[in-house]
Amino acid sequence: MTKIKIFSVVLIIVVIAAGSLYAWRQRSKRPISESVNKQTAEHQMPAQNSAEYFVQLADTVELPNLTPVTDPPFITNDQAADEHIQALAEKRGYRLQPLPNSDLIDLEAVRVQEPVVKPWQELKLAAQKEAGISLVIISGYRSVETQRVIFLNQLDLQAREEINRPFTNDEIAKGQADSVIDKILSEYSIPGYSGHHTGYSLDIEDTSSGKPFDEFEDTAGFAWISKNDYQNARRFGFIPGYPIGASNLGPDAEPWEFIWVGKDNLR
Ligand SMILES: [Zn+2]
Repeated sequence: MTKIKIFSVVLIIVVIAAGSLYAWRQRSKRPISESVNKQTAEHQMPAQNSAEYFVQLADTVELPNLTPVTDPPFITNDQAADEHIQALAEKRGYRLQPLPNSDLIDLEAVRVQEPVVKPWQELKLAAQKEAGISLVIISGYRSVETQRVIFLNQLDLQAREEINRPFTNDEIAKGQADSVIDKILSEYSIPGYSGHHTGYSLDIEDTSSGKPFDEFEDTAGFAWISKNDYQNARRFGFIPGYPIGASNLGPDAEPWEFIWVGKDNLR
């Protein structure tokens, strides 16, 4: 071989080696999160939309001190009317909730399941220390009976606005009150279907914002708790109960509601 030929061969080998090295380096530079996300999408529940993931987790997670309910409790006490209302609620995504089977604990002004207490106190302290935000619980456990009173009051109120009298059970059963009932369901659960029955759901308010709980979305408290896919909630085992961006929730999104599911149940 001539010197030129040897030189050419060496040059080609060097070019190929450099090219391979460059390609390999580019590949390994790809962020780890990309491959992790891909894995998550393949092996876990909804994945792409974390709002849907939170909803599915809340529906499937098994929490302590709860007994499942098989028959929905009465609403009006007229079977046909109740079944019609329950069907409307279930169509919106409301699910029959399990009920506490042990004593609840007093926390701030409400009652909750015992496992909620410490994580809530830690979350509250972190919000105060890290962001100067004061969070309080304004609603925790709610009984089936209380939810029935709330729902029936709304039904009475909205019917009077619409037709100047309450609906009869027959009208409800025949679907003649559907638009009014559906409007109520966008905000209020029927008895047996509220997340608050479990003692694991909390409605929270940012008292440092001066805004009422239903404007929680516009507060520094919400910005803090929801950033990075609700990282500051998840840190303490909480997830959003009715998150913005999820479908078929039951009510419309409720940015102020959080459910304790425990850190072990979170991915
Ligand atoms: Zn709530």
